[in-house]
Amino acid sequence: MRYLILNSILICSTLAVPASAQQSLDAMIDRDIASLVETYKMLHAAPELSHREEKTASFFANQLRALGYTVTERVGKFDRPEWAGYGVVAVMKNGDGPTVLLRTDLDALPVDEKTELPYASKVKTKNDSGQDVSVMHACGHDIHITNMLGTAKVLAQLRDQWRGTLMLVGQPAEETIDGARAMLKDGLYTRFPRPDYAIALHDTPDLETGKVGYVPGYALASATAVDIKVRGLGGHGSKPEATKDPIVLAAQVILALQTIVSRENSPLDPAVVTVGSIHGGTRYNIIPDEVNLQLTVRAYKEEVRQRLLASIERITKGIAVAAGVPNDRAPIVKVSETEVTTATYNDPALTERLAAAFVKALGQENVIRASPIMGSEDFGYLSLDHQIPTTMFWLGASDPSKLKQSKETGTPLPSLHSPLFAPVPEPTLRTGVKAMTAAVLELMKK
Ligand SMILES: [Zn+2]
Ligand SMILES: [Zn+2]
Repeated sequence: MRYLILNSILICSTLAVPASAQQSLDAMIDRDIASLVETYKMLHAAPELSHREEKTASFFANQLRALGYTVTERVGKFDRPEWAGYGVVAVMKNGDGPTVLLRTDLDALPVDEKTELPYASKVKTKNDSGQDVSVMHACGHDIHITNMLGTAKVLAQLRDQWRGTLMLVGQPAEETIDGARAMLKDGLYTRFPRPDYAIALHDTPDLETGKVGYVPGYALASATAVDIKVRGLGGHGSKPEATKDPIVLAAQVILALQTIVSRENSPLDPAVVTVGSIHGGTRYNIIPDEVNLQLTVRAYKEEVRQRLLASIERITKGIAVAAGVPNDRAPIVKVSETEVTTATYNDPALTERLAAAFVKALGQENVIRASPIMGSEDFGYLSLDHQIPTTMFWLGASDPSKLKQSKETGTPLPSLHSPLFAPVPEPTLRTGVKAMTAAVLELMKK
């Protein structure tokens, strides 16, 4: 069913691209906006989880092929062989000039949609552990995909106004933060041109529709998952003297970890250490053998991240020593190698340059300098550790009157990943296409 819908939309929007280049951007977007909103609603109703973006990727690829791009599918190599890489790379060469990469993510989340919109997702599937889950585009990646298709069409029509190589990337598995690395591992910058610039956008409920936000420098944090196994010596709950109680140790560890950010880290370097999960024990009167903690660690600078991780290990092990836990029962601190992502650093010069282009396209009042956040993204990997200037900007997606009301009443609107998150498709898509097109023309104009 989903596949049929995807194909029928594909057929009605593969009309030839008109050649006239002198028409205004607004007029071009006006002509496309109804079809873009339809595409958005269709994608919203058909979300796919990370590592399984098969139909979304093939729809995206077919659309770009029809617009004249040279498209390669199935780009991406994951560590787990059962995960296919559904990355899409679409290239349009248009003479000498810079190579500019635009990136959209493709995946959705295991969230049970509660918006009650007519195009709400009803998709259910089994996750990797075999559990039944609902699926929703609760992060708005469907906005990003549609925006990219709209931008791709406009830029194909405006070929006589830019020169260079345009590289459109549909990235899988953003939510699991392994998709960008999987594409790089599969030759994103060797099989295809290495970009001079890379640009992405992300929708946000914190800005009203019609506006974009930019953040020069660090914009999103690195995220690192850490597992701690606090080991003790279990026994009867009535005889603590014969045990090393890992529940008490875990409690001490959790409180001591709070001193890393407050006492060991410079207040000028943003950092977060959150214990998000604690599991141990079975019943009232048994002191268990171990307690398991799961942490997320956030920072902008790599040296800060390294210091946080070292402190976590030192404090955890030190508390076990202080409690007399034998060496062979020392806690195990494991830093994940897969659930980790780098910070998103927006190249300041590129970001300011694009902000000026946004002001020209959207008006000064619609271009907001936003604050960095400690959320994270895997787009930063595409910069190859700051070697390639990259920037990600925010696309306002909230109804202005609702946002105003929420600020007045102090009741936040549903956030990204909420089952109630509902970006307003129009004019969000209109603003996104306009801003992304303005960005590309700024970097590639003749
Ligand atoms: Zn997300
Ligand atoms: Zn997202």
